[in-house]
Amino acid sequence: MSSKGQPAPGKFPPKGQALCPRCHGTGHLPKFAHVKDGICFWCQGTGHRKGRELLDAQRDLDDARVQYRRLRNAVRKAREADKQRLQTKLDQLEAWGKRLRDYVDDLSIEIQQDLLPN
Ligand SMILES: [Zn+2]
Repeated sequence: MSSKGQPAPGKFPPKGQALCPRCHGTGHLPKFAHVKDGICFWCQGTGHRKGRELLDAQRDLDDARVQYRRLRNAVRKAREADKQRLQTKLDQLEAWGKRLRDYVDDLSIEIQQDLLPN
């Protein structure tokens, strides 16, 4: 298993509400050490309540970026008759990517704020 994209356990040292309710911030579930090294499935090892949402959103954003690049190349190479249709798809993908980026930003800020000392 690659460690790419896997947050280090306790990367978001949480407190209070920010704690993952399953692993209580450790990112690990010793009970499930036999499944994926016991990485908490609820927060995906971040230890933070919103960690999983953030990781999922970041993954979606990465996917959207890859699709966008592919489609943009397709638009360049497309015959004139197909261009309009592909361009419409590209615009939709761009809007979706923008929403995802805003969501990732908002979640990141919320998580960081949870970590600020009072
Ligand atoms: Zn957890």
